Amino acid sequence: MVSSSSSVIDAGVRSDWKDRIADILPPNSFFSDNINHIVNRIRFGIPLTLEDGIELFNHPMLSELAILANASKQARFGNEVYYNRNLHVNQTNICTLACRFCAFRRGKKSIDSYALSIESFIDRILPYAEHIDEIHTVGGLHPDWDVEFYSNLFSTVKSEFPDLHIKALTAVEIKHLAMKSQMSVNQVLSTLHKSGLDSIPGGGAEILDDEVRDIICKGKESSEEYLMIHETAHELNIPSNCTMLFGTIESVEQRISHLIQLRDLQTKTNGFQCFVPYPYLRDNSRLPEAQLSTGNETLRMIAVSRLMLDNIPHIKAYRMNLGEQLSELALVHGADDIDGTVIHEEIMQSAGSHTPLGNNRRSLIEKIQSTNAIPVLRNSIYTQFKYHHDDDDDHRSIKLPIGMNG
Ligand code: SF4
Repeated sequence: MVSSSSSVIDAGVRSDWKDRIADILPPNSFFSDNINHIVNRIRFGIPLTLEDGIELFNHPMLSELAILANASKQARFGNEVYYNRNLHVNQTNICTLACRFCAFRRGKKSIDSYALSIESFIDRILPYAEHIDEIHTVGGLHPDWDVEFYSNLFSTVKSEFPDLHIKALTAVEIKHLAMKSQMSVNQVLSTLHKSGLDSIPGGGAEILDDEVRDIICKGKESSEEYLMIHETAHELNIPSNCTMLFGTIESVEQRISHLIQLRDLQTKTNGFQCFVPYPYLRDNSRLPEAQLSTGNETLRMIAVSRLMLDNIPHIKAYRMNLGEQLSELALVHGADDIDGTVIHEEIMQSAGSHTPLGNNRRSLIEKIQSTNAIPVLRNSIYTQFKYHHDDDDDHRSIKLPIGMNG
């Protein structure tokens, strides 16, 4: 594992990125007059305000947003785009909640509900163990599973696959386990960390506005709880990601405010590695009032996220949700990271995603190269980087059958 830059790197970010951005950006005369005050802030590394974010999002020229966001990305990472070798395992679709946007959850008695035993979970990993560095595990709030169950699960995974990074459990799953086991969030996370949990994903942030949450995901953790759970993880040296689900019923102001809340927590803890924005996928039966997001709007959201979140290193193109073509475009609108080999996934597929599954690292590399970027294989915590060589032997496509009921 190597790194290519002569400047000091932290999570892949060049330490002199604020100096570099001034050199990379075209002169102010290149941009529309009405955003010149924002271009100046970006040029001088000054954090953008709520008003700046709204103005940028509504700016008619998407191409100018792309140039700004790409300059910001290039200053941090040069021409590199990161990916990892991961496998998603959704451990159960049984959930005690019923978020209105969720196509994945089932009641316990539903004919197509499932809950993987620890043995089945291990069986899911086995065929891919040679090809992955990370297991990404999120699922429903199972009414019977507690901290002890997950402790056993993670310690068994670690004993079978000691080098595998376990990224697991969204904030609401952690809240559910705390309630189920009558423990504090700190105790849950400490216990699971000792059992093998390495990092937590960002899912469940939706929009950090409780009026919106009351309508789209009533009963889930509040905005404050989402931030508190991630803050607690960071205090325990458990890094995490953060997300945003947009295109349901929220306003542009609520989206930008969401970004500022994440940025504020990051100022305090520096524990977020990556921000993952994704649009609500079209569905005729769930949340009919959803405004949905056009491709143009999704790219705007990615570009504005890059510009607002000046202290969160990575912006991810979540391929499972965006699809192949939009995720490719995301890489030229400020995203520097793309998820990942994935291999198998059920949540976005249930919601209507058509992104193909299977471990085809070659096509991921080609996708990155098609944007004129350099593909860089990273580890889960962005401390090890490996450059692609044509004679790497891990490019063959493998697609093995996985039964839903494991
Ligand atoms: S989004 Fe998560 S918590 Fe909400 S219903 Fe779906 S599985 Fe349950």
